[in-house]
Amino acid sequence: MKTIDNIKELKQHLSEERGANKRIGFVPTMGALHDGHISLVHKCVNENDICVVSIFVNPTQFNDKNDLITYPRTLEHDLSLLESAGCDYVFTPDEKEMYPEPDKRFFDFGRVAEVMEGKYRPGHFNGVAQIVSKLFSIVEPGKAYFGEKDFQQIAVIKTMVKQLDQKVEIVPCPILREKDGLALSSRNVRLSPEQRQKAPLIARVLEESTNFANERSVQETIDFVCNSINKEDEMRVEYYEIVDSETLEPVNKWSDSNDPVGCITVYCGEVRLIDNIHYNKAF
Ligand code: AMP
Repeated sequence: MKTIDNIKELKQHLSEERGANKRIGFVPTMGALHDGHISLVHKCVNENDICVVSIFVNPTQFNDKNDLITYPRTLEHDLSLLESAGCDYVFTPDEKEMYPEPDKRFFDFGRVAEVMEGKYRPGHFNGVAQIVSKLFSIVEPGKAYFGEKDFQQIAVIKTMVKQLDQKVEIVPCPILREKDGLALSSRNVRLSPEQRQKAPLIARVLEESTNFANERSVQETIDFVCNSINKEDEMRVEYYEIVDSETLEPVNKWSDSNDPVGCITVYCGEVRLIDNIHYNKAF
């Protein structure tokens, strides 16, 4: 495994690999890696000849400066996980390398980037698109792997790739969870022991809501989820929306969508956690 921090050198290596007809797969990350990230890396290693992983805590996608400052950084540990997972190249640029000048690009992806995370984290998806579009032009992967934990991010990246005509297949990967159901997240280490005990409530309530939904309306299901979580001390639902998995249009009645997905954000103390669930109601 090679660790490279500059664009020119990475491009040189990858152009040689491409010349030798190697299929290049790519997993962009912000580090503080856990088994969720590593599941993406395993899929990438299995489906390609060369696996590239980037580690870069991208400042332009943080609308909350405190979140950026406190974002966990564990490079040595990350590198050893990636080596064991069979990664070939780790790209670890610093901010100057990625943004020698401020990125002034403004993307308009319409609805998919404006609802939910787009509404509550203004500028977040613009920053994601800035960094991911740069990384795609540097790595030029055939396939890129993204976790369904960041459900909306996948819809945004797919829209970006179409808009910029980038030749990369976006591969969605399932959410990896702790045994108690909590979706793995780099931010989980910021939970206090008490908060860590409470946090699995989110996944549990989402799961329960799929049964609840069988006999209830969409609005009743939304209320059930919000009330069940909000009544717990230190837990506050920022939003819970049930949307169509492709268009992210709101689902007002179950028959509005073949694949309704419930997307949630919960503050557990100061820590912002996200999760989602498919209702898979076939009509
Ligand atoms: P991040 O480092 O948080 O930007 O995440 C990098 C990639 O890993 C993104 O595509 C995430 O969706 C994905 N990811 C994060 N957590 C999980 C998880 N629990 N299961 C699957 N993928 C995940």
